Amino acid sequence: MKKGQKFAVIIIGPPGAGKGTQAELLAEKINLYYFETARVLEKSWTNAKKSDYIEIDDGEKFYLLDEKKLFDKGIICSPPFVSFIVKKKIKELAEQNKNIILAGSPRTLHEGKQLMPFLIDLYGVENILVLELKISNKQAIWRNTRRKLCSKCRYPVPFTKETQKLKECPKCSGKLVTRTLDKEEVIKVRLKQYTGRTYPLFKYFKEIGVIVKEINGEQSIEDVFKDILKAIER
Ligand SMILES: [Zn+2]
Repeated sequence: MKKGQKFAVIIIGPPGAGKGTQAELLAEKINLYYFETARVLEKSWTNAKKSDYIEIDDGEKFYLLDEKKLFDKGIICSPPFVSFIVKKKIKELAEQNKNIILAGSPRTLHEGKQLMPFLIDLYGVENILVLELKISNKQAIWRNTRRKLCSKCRYPVPFTKETQKLKECPKCSGKLVTRTLDKEEVIKVRLKQYTGRTYPLFKYFKEIGVIVKEINGEQSIEDVFKDILKAIER
């Protein structure tokens, strides 16, 4: 990353790779705005009624509660709907000159093709870095079924010796919960979605000249973080 220029980091990996945890760490360590797609999506349908929809540029309508249904099953929400919401928010952040870290976007080739040219325009291709967090499916299932999330502030609490008995969020004392999304059968759906729908993005990144760096996500949280910092500094 060039010093003095605003930049965007994108973390991509299967569920349980540690995207949220690492993004939180990175946002704290360097001056980054953590953009979590799931959080923005969930906000869009909180308190939504059955008749509520978002109409995107070409007039297509997406009903918020239909999107929520997909999300709860572990299926990726409609790409045009996601792209629309994500682009709107990123434009706001870029206009405020914020460095950003994205976790959870892009998740499909469709979203990538909408989002990447837009990001390149705002940040410049040399100021965008994709980090691929790699873990095995077995590890992904193990981690997801054990992790917890703060019901108040969404802080992710991975399963470690230190955290296994925690009941309250270390940040805000909110109640820690296991998400429906982290049940084994839902994780299996999410892993399939990752391989089939997210993975093709890496070929696309190559085509458009975006730098991708692989990170071994099976190490301890601290070691993964060290590798990420190294990748960013270079
Ligand atoms: Zn919390």
